[in-house]
Amino acid sequence: MIDSQASAMQRVLLLGGTTEASRLAQALAAAHVDAVFSYAGRTDAPVAQPLPTRVGGFGGVAGLCEYLLAERITHVVDATHPFAAQMSRHAIEACGTLGLPLLALERPPWQPLPGDRWQHVPDLDSAVAALPAEPARVFLAIGRQHVQPFLDAGRHWFLLRLVDPGLSLPAERGAVVVDRGPFTLANDRALLERHGITHVVAKNAGGQGAQAKLEAARVLGCPVILIDRPAIPLRPTAGTVAQALQWLGVAQVDAGVHAATDRGV
Ligand code: NAP
Repeated sequence: MIDSQASAMQRVLLLGGTTEASRLAQALAAAHVDAVFSYAGRTDAPVAQPLPTRVGGFGGVAGLCEYLLAERITHVVDATHPFAAQMSRHAIEACGTLGLPLLALERPPWQPLPGDRWQHVPDLDSAVAALPAEPARVFLAIGRQHVQPFLDAGRHWFLLRLVDPGLSLPAERGAVVVDRGPFTLANDRALLERHGITHVVAKNAGGQGAQAKLEAARVLGCPVILIDRPAIPLRPTAGTVAQALQWLGVAQVDAGVHAATDRGV
């Protein structure tokens, strides 16, 4: 059970970049809550939000503290991706410094099912090291930022799936598909088969939006190198939008939204 944090002069900062953040934004807008949505600015055309939106880093913990004070923020909800650990740590530190209530809206990690061939690794470097000795055809489903160490490892062919166009690979090194999803088992299975994928590398993001690749790997008997989430200090956490609204003391209004297919960035 989450203690309600309702207050008269409430103004919420919602740190976004996930499907859950977009859903909470819809719920806050529907309930007419005074809130600001924040994007890091990683994608060229982020999903439009029904809340006033700011884009870009705050400038570390000091910059975030300044922002929170200047904007008279009373509550922070961190609905960033589970691998956006730096932003989450900054939010913990800034809210701790200013005595502001902070809630993380966090999806549970994926759990293996019968048929899964997962190898858990603690970080990106270990994922690179876990690739096989012989040349493999790897679906590298980790976004754009951390691709280079895999390419530097040499011997493998990589399929990248990215939100924005602009990155290409020489044909002998790999291929790039640009797609925001929604991703389905049928499509991801076809993608893996079309490219003769032998291994999948993914982050254990959890949630519905990106799990089709794991289902496809299971069906095809394809091994998955699954990167564990980075450690983030303990903080109050909600698993659902409804729980986050409860924490904020906001009554849920049915806005007729939420496509299970919404993407967060
Ligand atoms: P990160 O390493 O934790 O953050 C790096 C810096 O980016 C932060 O210190 C902060 O800059 C800025 N930042 C991150 N999220 C922000 C936000 N919502 N609003 C304003 N500034 C933000 O994060 P990341 O892994 O690069 O991810 C960036 C964004 O993409 C996140 O919002 C996350 O939700 C989304 N995303 C990430 C992944 C992933 O795999 N990491 C996947 C899907 C979506 P300052 O220090 O200057 O404040």
